[in-house]
Amino acid sequence: MKAAVKAFRKSVMKKGDKKKAESIHYSMEPQLSYSLIDQKTGQVKVLVGGRGQKQDDLALNRATSVKRQPGSTFKILSTYAPAIDTGSMTLATVFDDAPYQYENGQKVTNYVSTSYKGLTTVRDAIIDSNNIVAVKALTDLTPQVGFDFLQKLGFTTLVNNRVSTNGTYESDVNQSLALGGITDGVTNVELTAAYAAIANQGTYNTPVLYTTVKDSNGNVLLSNKKKSRKVIKKSTAWLLTNAMEDVVKKGTGRAAQLDSNMAVAAKTGTTSNNYDYWFCGYTPYYTASVWTGYDYNTSFDNDEDYHKVIWKKIMDRIISEKKQKVKSFPSNKNIKKAEICIKSGKKALPNVCSKDPEKSMVRTEYFASGTVPKDSCDAHIAVTFCLKSHLVAQKFCPDKFRYTKIFRVRPKHSSHKTDDEPYFLNIDINNKCNIHTEEWHQKKLEKKKKKQEEKLKKQQKQQQSGNDTTDTSINNIEKQIKKLLN
Ligand SMILES: [Zn+2]
Ligand SMILES: [Zn+2]
Repeated sequence: MKAAVKAFRKSVMKKGDKKKAESIHYSMEPQLSYSLIDQKTGQVKVLVGGRGQKQDDLALNRATSVKRQPGSTFKILSTYAPAIDTGSMTLATVFDDAPYQYENGQKVTNYVSTSYKGLTTVRDAIIDSNNIVAVKALTDLTPQVGFDFLQKLGFTTLVNNRVSTNGTYESDVNQSLALGGITDGVTNVELTAAYAAIANQGTYNTPVLYTTVKDSNGNVLLSNKKKSRKVIKKSTAWLLTNAMEDVVKKGTGRAAQLDSNMAVAAKTGTTSNNYDYWFCGYTPYYTASVWTGYDYNTSFDNDEDYHKVIWKKIMDRIISEKKQKVKSFPSNKNIKKAEICIKSGKKALPNVCSKDPEKSMVRTEYFASGTVPKDSCDAHIAVTFCLKSHLVAQKFCPDKFRYTKIFRVRPKHSSHKTDDEPYFLNIDINNKCNIHTEEWHQKKLEKKKKKQEEKLKKQQKQQQSGNDTTDTSINNIEKQIKKLLN
């Protein structure tokens, strides 16, 4: 706690300043910060710097002055936004959710599940806030690209490279940037402004805390114009919004479903040891973030939905009091639809991907035009078996014994057990039916030949005996004629 007070003092006092008065209020309950921005203008409409009534001037404002770890809210900003925007990934891109380690050997763990989902699309990884997929995605994209993109999103508290007082090298350009594991953290208002850029179809506005300051005569002393810059394509913003709508509809953000049918997109974030709980989201009107936690890092195992409920209650009240018209997010003409297989992220194979042994893996996915997958699924395989041997059918197996089964294909170099395991092709497809072999086929042919030969022989014999009968009767007639003549 003392450290938190000291850090705050350091943040408000400049060199040479003297402390004249200080008042410290302790709260045994967790703290909170909240910001709300009009994404179109960048104007900060609400700032909540802590619990309860403001008691002091220059009091600690947790929304603007406190840096906290952003957790999984950073997955969208550090990883998926730049990855989709540069075209190196789509919402259909698949990563294997399987045991994985950072380059330093430390294990990457998923927050909720102890099992591994196996082949997972970026969309599903956003919905379920999958850590392993996010780290793998940033590793592919490179932490440098993610870090540079965060600079464009207006974050001023990231560490490029620094040597700490105890001599250790510190930098946020590393794989854990995917999960928001950074040196100092971010402020609520900067995090909200970054999300507001996605809500504003890819255009970032620097947060505007005031517009003009005038003196008593009406002369303008300070004027604060909106500063905007394009940070991602409209199509990227559309895709991220669409995936984050799913977070609220069916993912980790369900507790924030609004009372009205207003469109809502959001991302949750929880940091290691449950120190920080975040919820960042937006409607077509406003973008807001809520943070809860203790001023000094303390685990916090309460109902993990309550900050989402706070976010929802504030947004519901704004919608009803401001009589906001229920809207969807803006459409985008550069978005194309395609039927894909979610185990490969590629074009679904007819009658194969839909017949996955677990359930159909075919889904309609959205793509920025030009990024629709052209290749067909290579994560599924159809294998025909022989009913007699239960081995892979070969060319001599009769049609009436043939049946087909669909399997998933184990990703290359993967030896880990994931939820895909029971559905993998775990047999050697070169081990073919040992009944209907070449030998069997030859024997069958010979048997057929023999049968035909026998049949022919029989027929010939019958003909022969028929001839014999005729001969005999002729002989008889001849004998009778002879008798008569005598
Ligand atoms: Zn498939
Ligand atoms: Zn066979």
